[in-house]
Amino acid sequence: MSSLVIKDLHVSIGDKEIIRGLSLEIPKGEVHAVMGPNGSGKSTLSKAIGGHPDYTITSGEVLLDGENIIGMEPDVRARKGLFLAFQYPMEIPGVSNANFLRAAVQARLPEGEELEATEFYAAMYEKMDFLEIPRTFTSRSVNEGFSGGEKKRNEILQMAMLEPRYAILDETDSGLDIDALKIVSNGVNALRGPNLGVLLITHYQRLLDYIVPDYVHVMVAGRIVQSGGKELALELEEKGYDFIREGIEESASAVL
Ligand code: ADP
Ligand code: MG
Repeated sequence: MSSLVIKDLHVSIGDKEIIRGLSLEIPKGEVHAVMGPNGSGKSTLSKAIGGHPDYTITSGEVLLDGENIIGMEPDVRARKGLFLAFQYPMEIPGVSNANFLRAAVQARLPEGEELEATEFYAAMYEKMDFLEIPRTFTSRSVNEGFSGGEKKRNEILQMAMLEPRYAILDETDSGLDIDALKIVSNGVNALRGPNLGVLLITHYQRLLDYIVPDYVHVMVAGRIVQSGGKELALELEEKGYDFIREGIEESASAVL
């Protein structure tokens, strides 16, 4: 039961079906990478699981530790332990990073429990130091004017503060130079453990040199077409996505 289960999921944007019968199971304690060409529906998958209103789940199930979360508001899903790091993190002008994080952490506490300010700041500074985020970030508006790498580091800071049970990281590597990639990967690796399941979405194999996944799944046109160990990512890097596509066409023509 301790897993994030996606069962035969179908997701549409408008009248266009993007996710076309996708199943995955991410047990707590494991890191599953989903790789796929641009446009295969990776971000659509993460936003649909998060509860984005533009993405309609037409059928299938998303079970968080056995509970179907489809239909729940995004903040309810978050309180149940789901965390999403976006491919393109939003800027929130007028809301300081510190206040944003404090409100987010407070919202996760049981009703009536007050977050102690000194404890909160101590925890935040500790995590910021680890992620090499300068202290000046706390008073700046969330992501406003941040570089691509700073935004990604900020997403991991949010994750570190919220301590989710399941985290979906959508192309956390995009826009990062190699130093920032190492810092972000170290952050994710430090959060790995028996109480966290990670769905790591990436287009490139490079990220998986730093965050070594337990399993790799290949997504093409809204479906998982192949699953394997971490060596599958290396094979993809070497051969490109075309060899998978050829495989699909062959199996499709074999059926016909
Ligand atoms: P990936 O993350 O794998 O690159 P996406 O999930 O972003 O893929 O996109 C999958 C498909 O859905 C693409 O054809 C894209 O154009 C379409 N799509 C994604 N988001 C939207 C949206 N908000 N409105 C319309 N089409 C979208
Ligand atoms: Mg994407």
